[in-house]
Amino acid sequence: MDFAHSERTRELLDRLISFQENEVAPREEPYHRELLSMQDPWVVLPAIEELKAKAKSEGLWNLFLPDQERGGGLSNVEYAPLAERMGRSLISAEVCNCNAPDTGNMEVLWHFGSAEQKERWLEPLLEGEIRSAFCMTEPDVASSDATNMQATATLDGDEVVLNGRKWWSTGAGHPNCKVAIFMGLTDPAADRYSQHSMVLVPLDAPGVKVERMLQAMGFLDAPAGHGEVSFTDVRLPASAIVGGPGQAFAIAQARLGPGRIHHCMRLIGLAELALELACRRATERVAFGKPLANLGGNRERIADARIAIEQARLHVLHAAWLLDTQSPQAIGAVSQIKVATPNMAQRVVDMAIQLHGGGGLSNEFPLAGAWTAARALRLADGPDEVHRGVVARLELARYGKGKWSS
Ligand SMILES: Cc1cc2nc3c(=O)[nH]c(=O)nc-3n(C[C@H](O)[C@H](O)[C@H](O)COP(=O)(O)OP(=O)(O)OC[C@H]3O[C@@H](n4cnc5c(N)ncnc54)[C@H](O)[C@@H]3O)c2cc1C
Repeated sequence: MDFAHSERTRELLDRLISFQENEVAPREEPYHRELLSMQDPWVVLPAIEELKAKAKSEGLWNLFLPDQERGGGLSNVEYAPLAERMGRSLISAEVCNCNAPDTGNMEVLWHFGSAEQKERWLEPLLEGEIRSAFCMTEPDVASSDATNMQATATLDGDEVVLNGRKWWSTGAGHPNCKVAIFMGLTDPAADRYSQHSMVLVPLDAPGVKVERMLQAMGFLDAPAGHGEVSFTDVRLPASAIVGGPGQAFAIAQARLGPGRIHHCMRLIGLAELALELACRRATERVAFGKPLANLGGNRERIADARIAIEQARLHVLHAAWLLDTQSPQAIGAVSQIKVATPNMAQRVVDMAIQLHGGGGLSNEFPLAGAWTAARALRLADGPDEVHRGVVARLELARYGKGKWSS
């Protein structure tokens, strides 16, 4: 196996690191401080638009997209180190137009959108002019089983009518969020995985209302945030359905593979940042006459963090390679890393918080936000238990001659 980066990755990584060090890093902390001090944080501060323009002009734009003309044209393995690097910062992915949920939504449109849908929504998303949300999870039903979904997308002549309530719709608070992909029940009589449709909903369509913004463990995550959104008799042309009625599950599978891998790659970057901060703190601060690093089991904890990060990185790269080369077989590997990586990142960040003492929980360091991001990803895009279920099913199917594989 060759662990070296491709030439293109190396070249982009050098440029990305220099962009982050010279442009993003000096502005990131003041940006968060300004946003936190605002009465109304649902705004785009000039720093973000300025950084977006610079990233675009330096060719650090849409790197996630496997299309050479409109994006990086990279394989998942090639994109991994770049996503990891972006994960060290809370704003880098956004300024490079590589942030969730827009990347997943753009991939849906790129793969499955009609010419009209691409022109109306994909183009401005690729340009970074608008933002988007993905509305699947519902407050009233256990949404880790997506077949539970109650919201409806009912066909009525040449129109589709949406009704229902969604929550945890990330991005819905952003002032530039103009469109959501809504998942709803279209045909209850169809096969279990062909009942639902994905519909492109303009956020200003009559009947769409962002009811409130949720807090994730006290974080609003403004200005994108996570919204509770109601849909009441929202009437749209049937041409707003992506890929045709009943296609939602098939499309979701395609959307979630790369999306989950990207999340894991960014989390590895976040864990690297946490370990770096932990090491700096442990060598610079003194207690009981010694640097913190030399007290108790702190060296072992630092070593364990390094080992855990390296293991997770190899695991994620292997899943990325499987997705690039043997896509359907990658399902199990993607579920494995979707469990392993957020748990690893949560543990590493927790260790870094502990080494920072009380400061670790404050806003002086990015650690409390990092811990919450890692914790959230044990739920978002499917809870750990559901992914463990996939891994166990595939494992048992090797022995049960089919009876365990349903
Ligand atoms: C920060 C954040 C951002 C999110 N962004 C989005 C978004 O943009 N769009 C969107 O649609 N959703 C989003 N979500 C929602 C997320 O995908 C759901 O919370 C998740 O899929 C679980 O659904 P649920 O909350 O309804 O939990 P439930 O389905 O009620 O499950 C609750 C718990 O039951 C247990 N459980 C469930 N199934 C099993 C099983 N098979 N075996 C054992 N135990 C099980 C697990 O412990 C699980 O956590 C986001 C969530 C968070 C926290």
